[in-house]
Amino acid sequence: MTLIFSGNDFKYELESVVKLFIPATLFDICHNVKTEYFNGDFCFLRRKRGKEKTYLYAICRINGKSVVRAQSILNSTDNYEGSCEIILARLLFMCLTELTGKSAKWGILTGIRPVKRINKLLDEGMSKNSIEHELSNIFLCDKSKIEIAYKTAVTQKRALENMSRNSFSLYISIPFCPSRCSYCSFVSQSVESSIGLIPEYVDRLCDEIVYTANMILCKGLKLDTIYFGGGTPTSLEANQLEKIMKAISRHFDLSALREYTVEAGRADTITKEKLEVIKSCGADRVSINPQTMNDSVLKAIDRRHTVKQFIDSYKLAKEIGFESINTDLIAGLPTDTVQSFMKTVDEIISLEPENITVHTLSIKRAADLNRKSYTVIDNPAEQMVDYASKRLMESGYDPYYLYRQKNMLENLENIGWSKPGKESLYNIYIMEENQSIIALGAGASTKLVAGDGHLKRIFNYKFPLEYIKHFDIMLRKKNEAREFIEQNIL
Ligand code: SF4
Repeated sequence: MTLIFSGNDFKYELESVVKLFIPATLFDICHNVKTEYFNGDFCFLRRKRGKEKTYLYAICRINGKSVVRAQSILNSTDNYEGSCEIILARLLFMCLTELTGKSAKWGILTGIRPVKRINKLLDEGMSKNSIEHELSNIFLCDKSKIEIAYKTAVTQKRALENMSRNSFSLYISIPFCPSRCSYCSFVSQSVESSIGLIPEYVDRLCDEIVYTANMILCKGLKLDTIYFGGGTPTSLEANQLEKIMKAISRHFDLSALREYTVEAGRADTITKEKLEVIKSCGADRVSINPQTMNDSVLKAIDRRHTVKQFIDSYKLAKEIGFESINTDLIAGLPTDTVQSFMKTVDEIISLEPENITVHTLSIKRAADLNRKSYTVIDNPAEQMVDYASKRLMESGYDPYYLYRQKNMLENLENIGWSKPGKESLYNIYIMEENQSIIALGAGASTKLVAGDGHLKRIFNYKFPLEYIKHFDIMLRKKNEAREFIEQNIL
């Protein structure tokens, strides 16, 4: 497939639209129009500026069949460049829908955070009807997606009402897992291969906690939420978790803390002792993730625990008294069917967790599934996701964060669902980028949000061994955070 651009350079946006329909292709990109480019499959995207009007064309050909769409706009149109880009994306989308017979329910909203656009429109005072009209007619979104995205934005507004300007969240990375799930592409070293590194990693992480706490303390920022993620934090022993959590409570001021989550993702890492330590050190939210309630699917994704282990761990967490429990599910896993996914959703809802996150499988380059060339045949993730959304809404859950990733099956999305008032603030902050997140540990990336909304990212070393080896250099980099906070946040 050749993408030919004439009179415009909207490559990123237009290529993203093509990928909705023709996902796994490498495109030839051309900016000069030559006749030989028009021999095979192509998308020709042209902008021609006349005296008063600009003419926009999309001409696409696939397997010998061609479709043309065209529109003009006045040269004096507000936001001329942005309008041309959106119109060309829409014309291209219409051509490819007709040529491929495929649908893409998010329309030309190809970015990973569709709710951000709705939040912006709400902040500008736009009514619900006008927002729906814009998303449907300009961005070609399906009604079902608009409804969920709008509800998500409304839930977020309610949840964020009390967020203080000078607050921040703390992310603690524990990049270890007992073994690797076949769909995972995270930098998570299996405990078997890196167990020897854990004690030193814990010590360095505690040092980073002390250093960062001193830096923040002198800046007067308030700690709002804490999130332990990974990896699987409960891959650590109870005493190691306790050491890290105690370092936090000793060195940070937790008096304004509103939420404290520890991911206890894999049931094969959970023990009563670990959950008790987590609770006694102040965490009020855990995430225990079955992904599926079918043992055969768990086996197919190399996830080394059973459904029974998940249920036992979940009940244990309830008994110990966590205020909020999240459970993650994934639609579109190998060997799963619509029927068995529906059973998964029903069983999870019957447990009544406060949060349920429904992911759509995204096959990343580094995942074992990709190497095994998992092909998605007869795996209707869309039906699975639609069923989950319907059942969750009927059962009193609201969507509260939503995002998309590259290579997701059927261009779907991940949605966090919550019982009213139980939304995870941290998850909203990380998606909507409306609060600074200071991240510690290997693979962690700090995201600082300035008063005017611009962002600065600071990355820690990716792998535990690098993190340990170059720890002093990394600490020095933390001064960039100090300077940014002084100049842009306070
Ligand atoms: S538990 Fe999570 S982080 Fe660990 S390997 Fe599995 S998917 Fe990846």
